[in-house]
Amino acid sequence: MRARFPDFRLGNVLATSFTGTLSERHGNAVERIPTPHRLVDWLAVNGLAVDSSTTAQLALARELRESIHAAAATAAAIQDPLPATAVQVINDRSSQGRAAAVLTSDGERRWLLSSASCVEDALSVIAADAISILAGERDGKLALCASPTCQAAFFDTSQSRTRKWCDMNTCGNRQKKARFHANQSTSAK
Ligand SMILES: [Zn+2]
Repeated sequence: MRARFPDFRLGNVLATSFTGTLSERHGNAVERIPTPHRLVDWLAVNGLAVDSSTTAQLALARELRESIHAAAATAAAIQDPLPATAVQVINDRSSQGRAAAVLTSDGERRWLLSSASCVEDALSVIAADAISILAGERDGKLALCASPTCQAAFFDTSQSRTRKWCDMNTCGNRQKKARFHANQSTSAK
C-alpha cells in the first residue's frame, strides 16, 4: 500500500510552484515533497520527468527551494540586496544542470533533460525560472501571501497587481471563511 502524501498545489509559475511544496511556513508547515519519490512525482507533474531521485538529490532540491524562497521573500518585501548564500545556491543549481528548451509541433515549449536520471537538470530549469523572475524580466510582481501562517512568495500576474493570496483555493478561501465567521459572531451580539 502506498502512503498518502499531501497533494501538490499547482500554479502557473514553475519557481513559485516549487517553493509552494513547503506550505504554511509560519504555521504548521506541510512538506509536500517528503520523500525522493514525491520529488519525482512533482517534477513529472511540472513537465520535468526524471526516472528517480536519491536522498541527496532531494536535499539539493530542498536547498534550492529554500534559497528561491529566501530570495523571493526579500525581493517581494523590501528592496534590500538579495541574500548572498541564496543567490549562490540558485546560480550553482542553474549552472550545474543541462536542459534544453525544445519546441513541439503544436508550438509548445518542452524541456529536454540530458538524461532521464538527472534531477540536477530539472533543478537547473527551476533555478533559471527563479532567476528570470528575480531579475524582473517577466511581466508580474513578486508578492507575499497575506495569510499570517503562510506568507508564501508568489508571482502576481493579475492586471492590477493586487493579488493577496498565494492560492485562492486554500489561503484565500480560509481567509474569506474566517471573515465570514467573524461577521456572524458580531451580528449575533
Ligand atoms: Zn498562502
